[in-house]
Amino acid sequence: MRYYSHLDNTINAAFKEALLASLAPGGGLWMPETLPQFTQDELARLGGMDFADCAAELAAYFTDDNFTKTDLTSICRDAYNFDIPLKSFDGYILDPALEEPRSEFMLELFHGPTLAFKDFAARFMGRAASHIMNQTEERRRILVATSGDTGGAIGDSFLHQDGIDVFILFPDGGVSPVQQQQLTTIGHGLSNVHAIAVKGSFDDCQQLVKDAFSDKRLSQKHKLMSANSINVGRVIPQSFYYFWTSLKLKAAYFDKKIVYSIPSGNLGNLTGGLIARKMGAPIDRFVIGNNINNPFVDYLKTAKYTPRPSVPTLSNAMDIGRPNNFPRILSLFNNDYQAVENLCWGASFSDEDTERHLRKIHAETGYIMCPHTAVGHLAMNSFAEGIEEDFIKVTVATAHPAKFKESVERIIRESIPMPTALQDIMTRTPKLENIGPDLSELTALLDAHNS
Ligand SMILES: *Cc1c(COP(=O)(O)O)cnc(C)c1O
Repeated sequence: MRYYSHLDNTINAAFKEALLASLAPGGGLWMPETLPQFTQDELARLGGMDFADCAAELAAYFTDDNFTKTDLTSICRDAYNFDIPLKSFDGYILDPALEEPRSEFMLELFHGPTLAFKDFAARFMGRAASHIMNQTEERRRILVATSGDTGGAIGDSFLHQDGIDVFILFPDGGVSPVQQQQLTTIGHGLSNVHAIAVKGSFDDCQQLVKDAFSDKRLSQKHKLMSANSINVGRVIPQSFYYFWTSLKLKAAYFDKKIVYSIPSGNLGNLTGGLIARKMGAPIDRFVIGNNINNPFVDYLKTAKYTPRPSVPTLSNAMDIGRPNNFPRILSLFNNDYQAVENLCWGASFSDEDTERHLRKIHAETGYIMCPHTAVGHLAMNSFAEGIEEDFIKVTVATAHPAKFKESVERIIRESIPMPTALQDIMTRTPKLENIGPDLSELTALLDAHNS
């Protein structure tokens, strides 16, 4: 499959170029030119496979001849060596072989090494990029802005990979203490992964990355590659879990409609869902939960898109005023607002709403959500209020609550156990560098690491 630029569809590239160049010439976002289509029999077969094998089959359509089917199977099996449970509040985990009547699930995407859904994209992208580097002996410096979870996932996935240095830009004071500890201790601070605290917001970090890529001389000198969701290599793997889990649900509840609710910021996760649906995933609608940084929910309500500066909230990974993937969504729907609105429904919530809800669900069911997931679940509940017919509700649980230990414990007034992976990280000594939100400071830092 080839990729085209969303700004000019006469510009196109193979997967390798799209992945390594991050942005198309002229600054466009790469989009898949065609999407695979499957018969009902093929869909049933893919849904019946292990997740990693289903992912490898899908990846074959999105990559190029640098990857054999065997390469993709080993990349996906190595990347996806953890569970993807669809869980009910009572602890039941979906098994299509058991005919358990349930209508609501949490899709827990946080069982990877950094405990957030970003692992799905980062682990595929990291392995795909290293595979190309190994074949070509190219080198890259990865520049990634993070609102908290991306940096950890990308750092973890590129740690000790030959030919790659990673620079993680995070907003100073804008990530949770656990996230900061995770970011600043990857490889114990002695590896190819560097954590950079930027005096500013996540939008400032994201802008710095965009400015660095727009600066041709800088990006060529340092062979920069983006690992943010402007890179299509981040977005594609996020379609895999929508595709596979919706087929599992379909096998269990074949006559019911299926709706996914996604707590959203940069809209990469939603873009993955929309791509999966275009490939035949049996998903009826998408619900989008925003915090008060809600340019997409506003767009759904008013047909007007107004990017704005972000403000800090409890669900910090969604503090985004100018979502990277908004143009991709428009491009998927040929700029047809009505088509987007028919498929997507959104609502936004304050921190007070989120806290109250997180506390209530914990009190009623014992289930603990991270603040982002709570926003998604609130949105699902609001959506369901207006619907009479029975449907299967799936809320995407984007991070483990322990990543937001301080906030979550304060909200539910109980201590929550730290998963062992995090306990180990909390004892390490952090290492970081500081810069202002200024391209000249970033340039100086990159130059200093060159020598
Ligand atoms: C990144 C992130 C989100 C937002 O996902 P987008 O793809 O940017 O919309 C939501 N929740 C958590 C925990 C995240 O890390």
